Amino acid sequence: MTTVAPAQTKIYPVTATINTKGHLVIGGCDTVALAQQFSTPLYIYDEATLKLMARGFIDAFRSRYQRTQVVYASKAFINVGLARLLAGYGLGFDVVSGGEVAVVRAAGVEPAKLFFHGNNKTPQELHEAVAAGIGHIVVDSFHELDLLDGIAAREERKQNILVRVSPSVDPHTHAHTTTGILDSKFGFPIETGQAAEAVRRAIASKNLELQGLHFHLGSPIFELEPYAEAIGVVLRFASKMREEGLQLRRFSPGGGFAIAYTEADHPPAPEAYAEVIVDAFRQGLSDYDLPDPELIVEPGRAIAGRAGVALYTVGATKEVPGIRTYVAVDGGMGDNIRPAIYGSKYVATVANRAAEAPSTTVTIAGKYCESGDVLIRDAKLAPVQAGDLIAIPASGAYAPSMASNYNLNGRPPIVVVADGNARLIRRRESYADLMIGDVL
Ligand SMILES: *Cc1c(COP(=O)(O)O)cnc(C)c1O
Repeated sequence: MTTVAPAQTKIYPVTATINTKGHLVIGGCDTVALAQQFSTPLYIYDEATLKLMARGFIDAFRSRYQRTQVVYASKAFINVGLARLLAGYGLGFDVVSGGEVAVVRAAGVEPAKLFFHGNNKTPQELHEAVAAGIGHIVVDSFHELDLLDGIAAREERKQNILVRVSPSVDPHTHAHTTTGILDSKFGFPIETGQAAEAVRRAIASKNLELQGLHFHLGSPIFELEPYAEAIGVVLRFASKMREEGLQLRRFSPGGGFAIAYTEADHPPAPEAYAEVIVDAFRQGLSDYDLPDPELIVEPGRAIAGRAGVALYTVGATKEVPGIRTYVAVDGGMGDNIRPAIYGSKYVATVANRAAEAPSTTVTIAGKYCESGDVLIRDAKLAPVQAGDLIAIPASGAYAPSMASNYNLNGRPPIVVVADGNARLIRRRESYADLMIGDVL
């Protein structure tokens, strides 16, 4: 057995190898055999990589600051099977909808371990969350403060909350995924005084218990400095608000930790993020003489991204002489919309001839009826023909979770691989699934 091209090892799951047949192997499973068993498109999650990243974040932070809770941002991808696995590694969960709450609860996760985020949670979602005993609701607007106070009163509960503030720090990532600058729909800006007003009103709300502050800068964040800067800004704000009664029992600098999608990406390791975040946190606590709050970090992409590999079958090829060659696969923007909405870059390999050096440049298109349905422009690949398998690594986060039924294609199945075994955690959607909500 050989390993995948050395320059790309950081992009593939940690168990990725190539067997003597030249097939890409993940978690001890031959991807060609997986394609035969489950058909394509198929999403493969490597259990060893999930565990390594989950434990990596937990250990990196706890070894530097014992009172840290690592919570997985479910929107990166969640279903019942994955939630069970991740809960077993000791992660809590961030959720952003009633649907995500329902899925993680169905996996047996205690509501007390949940942090409920979102800039416009509906009255029904808030009501269900309070009634279920959700641990913390992260309040994002004055509208929500009032709504939640009323709901908690009717439920006769005192609801723990965090207030999400916006520190006006730019993490230099895609505009669509930048969340902590002044001109953002998320959070109460500190700069304008609205964050101070939110803290005052939260403290005055009889049915809410303000536990602390939260911010999230965006994603993916390859730089470390924005975290340090924002932590300083928010702790300075916390110290000012102490005179008005704020007790900082919990503090969250959010998530946004990067992964490598291509050889050009150099994401910091969990230890590097932990070092900078904990240093800035301890520094701020000491500068402003604040007590030691619980630290809550929220990785999503960094847990699920590298663990996931998408597997497709090649169909039609179209050569436009002198311009480019399109190689079409049986999936596309319906299972991974990131290239279309963010211009995200990926690499690919021919999974059934993975040991062959790339010698052609082709554009990998999907099967959806949009010209923008291109997964990889100018992919370097071994020559391909119909029936070959294409694997796209680093597909575990924000691909299946953003999948749609556009063109009424069923969403792909998902398997978790470990030690040569593949376990189906989501089956392929059938035609009947596509009509399940239709009123006939
Ligand atoms: C999306 C999100 C995260 C996770 O972001 P990743 O880039 O997946 O780590 C964490 N916290 C909040 C509030 C989020 O909205």
